[in-house]
Amino acid sequence: MVGMARSDRPQHLFSSLSSETLAVVAGRPERTPDSPLNVPITPASTYVAGGSLEYGRYGNPTWEAFEDVMGALEGGRAVMYASGLAAAAATLSLVPEGGAVVVPRHAYNGTVGLMQDAARRGRLEVREVDVSRPNALVDAAEGAAMVWIESPTNPALEVVDIAETAAAARTRGALVVVDNTFATPLVQQPLALGADVVVHSATKLLAGHSDALAGVAVVADDPTYELLEAYRRLHGATPGALEAYLATRGLRTLAVRFERAQDNARRLAEHLERHEDVAVVRYPGFGTVLTFEPKGGATAAHRVTTASELVVCATSLGGVETSWERRRRWAGEPVTVPDALIRVSVGIEGFTDLWTDVAQALTRG
Ligand SMILES: *Cc1c(COP(=O)(O)O)cnc(C)c1O
Repeated sequence: MVGMARSDRPQHLFSSLSSETLAVVAGRPERTPDSPLNVPITPASTYVAGGSLEYGRYGNPTWEAFEDVMGALEGGRAVMYASGLAAAAATLSLVPEGGAVVVPRHAYNGTVGLMQDAARRGRLEVREVDVSRPNALVDAAEGAAMVWIESPTNPALEVVDIAETAAAARTRGALVVVDNTFATPLVQQPLALGADVVVHSATKLLAGHSDALAGVAVVADDPTYELLEAYRRLHGATPGALEAYLATRGLRTLAVRFERAQDNARRLAEHLERHEDVAVVRYPGFGTVLTFEPKGGATAAHRVTTASELVVCATSLGGVETSWERRRRWAGEPVTVPDALIRVSVGIEGFTDLWTDVAQALTRG
């Protein structure tokens, strides 16, 4: 089949290296004199016939560089897509017609929206569960084709035990998918914990600079890899070469950005907890995203998020800059997400500058 040349590429060359090192060394060109250190951007809609790529929708060397790094970090084979939701759609295509998918009700609203849309069309059945209840995913997994884990969830920040859930879901015959966008492979590697597919919005922490949309699915087994690669080709869910380059470049600094932002997030959570105008703070203890609810409800939350000068009021997350928004400003957000909840994506600024701005926004809000 055309565009399938990568099946013979070695995938576990780097099994002894740490994630921090893999993020730097994987996906590089061969070390021949005068070759660049980075795989260049290849803007190509077609290639000279007779090779393994043939056409721009089938493959691109710049995608492959990103896929090689992500495959190394997650311990599998990666397929890059145009966005996180394109990766989610490709992964959902693994559910047979009419099959049931179990998903946390507070999973990313675009993911749940995609599933609900497929359900309305009669393609599949969605079982939305409350993962703050122990075993909720497993209890709903009987007869399901897929169990979709997001841990932590966006934006409720609920955490589930991936290994336990994956093992129980598998004995019930379900495919196990983990959206690893919030934790990144630096915190957890779901394939090693028993998941079949890992998906990411690479738009967020992996690319990391709020300048590119991209997604990726990583799998452990070759038949699933072939299906996901075929989906990209057949549905045209292809990333741009520039986005692939930016995402790969982002991965090079993932470990330092993550460490720094996580440190800021921990400190911000502590400071918010002690602030008199804050009612609730949620932080799972790791990662770069936290949420809080100011006293005074949705009106106060709106005022706080628009009173900051350093922190930008914007959706999305995982950039080097700290951003926040009141989540319920989105009509698609479930009503079980508190009306005043502000989701904060913590960046890598100096902490004192960050806290000074957040504190003045709280006072003005
Ligand atoms: C943003 C996000 C997505 C969707 O990714 P896009 O790149 O915006 O399509 C999926 N899952 C989670 C957890 C997200 O935060």
